[in-house]
Amino acid sequence: MKFNALLIEKSDAGYRASIQSLDDDDLPEGDVTVRVDYSTINYKDGLAITGKSPVVRKFPLVAGIDFAGTVESSSHASWKAGDKVVLNGWGVGETHSGGLAQRARVKGDWLVALPSALSTRQAMALGTAGYTAMLCVMALEGHGLKPASGDILVTGANGGVGGVAITLLTKLGYRVIASTGRMQEAGALKQLGAAEVIDRAELSAPGKPMAKERWAGVVDSVGSHTLANACAGTKYGGAVAACGLAQGMDFPASVAPFILRGITLYGIDSVMAPLAKRQQAWQRLAKDLDLAKLEAMVREIPLADAIGAGADILAGRIRGRVVVNVNA
Ligand code: NDP
Repeated sequence: MKFNALLIEKSDAGYRASIQSLDDDDLPEGDVTVRVDYSTINYKDGLAITGKSPVVRKFPLVAGIDFAGTVESSSHASWKAGDKVVLNGWGVGETHSGGLAQRARVKGDWLVALPSALSTRQAMALGTAGYTAMLCVMALEGHGLKPASGDILVTGANGGVGGVAITLLTKLGYRVIASTGRMQEAGALKQLGAAEVIDRAELSAPGKPMAKERWAGVVDSVGSHTLANACAGTKYGGAVAACGLAQGMDFPASVAPFILRGITLYGIDSVMAPLAKRQQAWQRLAKDLDLAKLEAMVREIPLADAIGAGADILAGRIRGRVVVNVNA
């Protein structure tokens, strides 16, 4: 069967992303074939589509690190035709053809059942960014933080991880401080639930080893000096969940907040997270998220526009989440 896909190719002529018509024979090995409804543009998809970082490591490859859709055929014991599924990570869109296509073939072990409260569109409105935000919140909760513990700082607030984290945390009763480089969007962040909005310039430059104790917990998708300053401002016994590198991969920090304030830094990885954790995260998203607020963060685009959106997300031109309707 023929289908459309966003294909990444690399040759002597260079690195190229284009929409191509592929055939089922072009699908990779796997025991489940899925009719994709929606995919998304995550930061990592931007890197893959533009070739700015070596995210794609096999060519030609269909881009897209996540998708939601319906099982068409399966030889895997857990799945049958008609099941609604969601996929995040596992190297899909990096070394295994991915979700920015009308069809995908993957290992059944990689799939998560779509919670009945979520549509495939809502699942991709969340996407890997939203699922990672949930993993961050689960890490802070696992640390023992509660709304009474104090404020939670969310960095990269206008991004996908940041926006979903704000929405989740406020619904759970936390008071959220949102850090952003786009202060003109402060109103939108308050609509999502942020109690306070600060300019990311407060956190993005080299800071002191320890600062005034301002927050009990942090969801950081930015890394670099921002993560170091977030740690420096964390209250005694607090916790920081680090998942991203939008400012940089470096971590120019001091051990002071760790050894003098007993704070904990949790590393959050969504790509290889075990199945049980994924299932828990998706169930929690279905239960703990204000879906109306999620919709306010979403822009839907057709597959053909995904190439431009990949460049836009890296340039910081996207607010919230972009859902890709692969059948439009
Ligand atoms: P987005 O581009 O949607 O959000 C990133 C946000 O970070 C931007 O909106 C911007 O927010 C802020 N930002 C961008 N550039 C800078 C900068 N130079 N300095 C400070 N802040 C900056 O991306 P996602 O939400 O999809 O992903 C966020 C990060 O998390 C990425 O690094 C991504 O790779 C990582 N990630 C990691 C995962 C994991 O498994 N560990 C899974 C998913 C994402 P604002 O305009 O508000 O300042």
